[in-house]
Amino acid sequence: MPKNSSKTSIFLASCMLSIILLSLISSVILYRQIASLQVAPVRTELVSFINEYEYELMRSTMAFTEAYNHHNDSGEYKEFNTWFNMLLSRYQGLERIEKQHSEIFNRLNLRLLKTNLQQIKLFISRPDILLPANLEMVKQLFNQLVIETHQFQKQWVFQNEGLILAKQNKTLSSYQNSVVLIFVTFVIGIIMVLYLFSNNKKLLILRRTLEQRVYMRTKELKDSNSHLISEVQERKKTELQLMQSQFAAEQAHKKIQYQANFDPLTKLANRNLFLERFAQASIRADRNNTFVALLFLDLDRFKYINDTLGHSIGDKLLQEASSRIQEVLRASDTAARFGGDEFAVILSDIEELHTVNLIVDRILKSMASPFRLCGNDAFVSASIGITVYPTDGKDSETLLRKADSAMYKAKDEGRNNFQFFTAQMDIEANERRLLEAALYKAVEAQEFSLHYQPIIKSDNNGIAGVEALIRWKDEIRGYIPPEEFIPLAEEIGLILPIGEWVLKEACSTAVKWVENISEPFILSVNISSRQFQKCNMAEQIANVLAQTGFAAKHLMLEITEGLLMGDDQQILNQLQEIREMGVSLAIDDFGTGYSSLSYLKKYPITTLKIDRSFIQDINIDTDDDELIKGILSMAKSLNVSVVAEGVETLQQAEFLLENNCLLIQGFHFSKPMPAIEFSQYLQLSDSQPSLELKFKHDRNCA
Ligand code: C2E
Ligand code: MG
Ligand code: MG
Repeated sequence: MPKNSSKTSIFLASCMLSIILLSLISSVILYRQIASLQVAPVRTELVSFINEYEYELMRSTMAFTEAYNHHNDSGEYKEFNTWFNMLLSRYQGLERIEKQHSEIFNRLNLRLLKTNLQQIKLFISRPDILLPANLEMVKQLFNQLVIETHQFQKQWVFQNEGLILAKQNKTLSSYQNSVVLIFVTFVIGIIMVLYLFSNNKKLLILRRTLEQRVYMRTKELKDSNSHLISEVQERKKTELQLMQSQFAAEQAHKKIQYQANFDPLTKLANRNLFLERFAQASIRADRNNTFVALLFLDLDRFKYINDTLGHSIGDKLLQEASSRIQEVLRASDTAARFGGDEFAVILSDIEELHTVNLIVDRILKSMASPFRLCGNDAFVSASIGITVYPTDGKDSETLLRKADSAMYKAKDEGRNNFQFFTAQMDIEANERRLLEAALYKAVEAQEFSLHYQPIIKSDNNGIAGVEALIRWKDEIRGYIPPEEFIPLAEEIGLILPIGEWVLKEACSTAVKWVENISEPFILSVNISSRQFQKCNMAEQIANVLAQTGFAAKHLMLEITEGLLMGDDQQILNQLQEIREMGVSLAIDDFGTGYSSLSYLKKYPITTLKIDRSFIQDINIDTDDDELIKGILSMAKSLNVSVVAEGVETLQQAEFLLENNCLLIQGFHFSKPMPAIEFSQYLQLSDSQPSLELKFKHDRNCA
């Protein structure tokens, strides 16, 4: 509908335009016709002009007749000349008018007029004009002119009237046509105006609707545009997030890649990368006929430092040690950390094994200078086991296992040294692995028992207490000394269940001994540093005491100096809590570690157990005698009791008594014995106040 309306409007508009154009054209035509009516005044002028001409012609003719018929009247000649000249000039006027009104003059033979006038002019200028023939000729010429003019005059007047009439008729009909045309145009215009008006109304409505639609559409568009903008923004945001997450993913990928190949703590290669590098090195060795040395390196005393100084310091030590190792290696070598304080090194392209010695020497020397850790100087050495590809094995697994065995050998050899792998080492390492497996089994199968070694009062040989010492009898190996399996148990974490069992077992066994003894009696139990680090010992002890009914005042815990070295607040808290419960605390093997008076003050220590290495040298090494005396006097001043361990001879006992060491323990009095035997021993000591004979009896039994 709007489309049709607009088409019609266009059509009508073009019609109107055409009509206006037609009107304009007709107006122009009309105007021209009206303009042509003005011919009448022109003609009137012309009539008078021709009349003048005719008159002048008549006069000239007459003047000629007058002048040339009388011959010598100069006045008449003059008149003729005047009229003839006027006629000539009139003729020139006619010629001019003819140019403008050719349609009027088309019946007047101007050429004839001209010729006649020229001939007349020519004749009258001739000397023989007066000849009758010539005169007659001129008269004829004039006559012709008169006739011609007259004829023209007649015809022209008639024609002139008809022409005007026709033109006026034509003008009238043009007028009529124009009026009709104007009327028709007016009617059409009115119709069109009406139509356009009604159409315009429709168009206005249409326009309004359209405007509304446009408004709605614009609104929709705006809305969709804003949606689009927010969508674009959202998209940008998502893209940004995507980019960020991509970046994060890349970073994570890199991190994963890094983690897959490097040890995050030391930045050394990890086992993965190590194995890869070894594979490459072995291929090169095969091709070039060279060797690859594989080093297995373990930091000596690292566990001790880690346990005592804390893990963060332990980590620092590992980092420092790593960079020291790295520094002394060649660019082609690879250092890796396998975890804990275990390092492995690949020395590739070795032509002579002597080179290995040099590099390993450099590593050991690099470790020799003290490690400055948080203000403390720590001394850490390394034990290194070495295997050589292809001599000791073809694959990394075998070579690493053998290097590990060699490393253990280096540790056995007093640490801070290196050992090339030998077949014997493999056997030993294998034994260690077997022992480890057996220990796991022993914990499960409860293969442990406790032996008890009395602690004697040196002044009256009475029993002051007893130390519980663990025993493990393996089915195949028989009795395995605690010094062999306790460090292993500490290393593999089995010390926790073992230690708890020892405590429970000792307390529940000793309950009846305490009940039967009137004298103060102390049960001494060895506790590993690891137990303090991994468990809440105060809680465990409280539980055990509650479960067994053993009084806290009868219990003494033997700890090592290393535990106190770390200056760990958490350890101090535990020890204080334990002490507050009434449990005594002894430092075992006193003198072998970093004996310091400061921690004797700081920690709630009640007893020092002098290590047997000092006791053995009594009366042999005077330095040790002095040292023992020093320890005793220091303990006295600090109000700490002292137990001398490993007393094997009477002289040692006498020396200790002389120097006021009131508590002694050792084979001189009794070896550790099973619980039943110790019960009997207690009963015997009750019935025989002097234990002298009994000790002798025991020694004989042992
Ligand atoms: P320790 O706590 O210093 O125990 C004393 C060790 O010296 C015992 O060795 C004992 O049999 C031995 N001994 C006692 N008197 C003499 C002597 O006159 N001469 C000689 N040569 N030795 C003597 P044992 O039972 O083999 O224990 C060795 C170490 O194992 C203990 O040293 C202790 O550190 C550890 N240990 C033993 N039982 C346990 C336990 O239940 N828990 C923990 N954590 N460690 C234990
Ligand atoms: Mg002990
Ligand atoms: Mg000891």
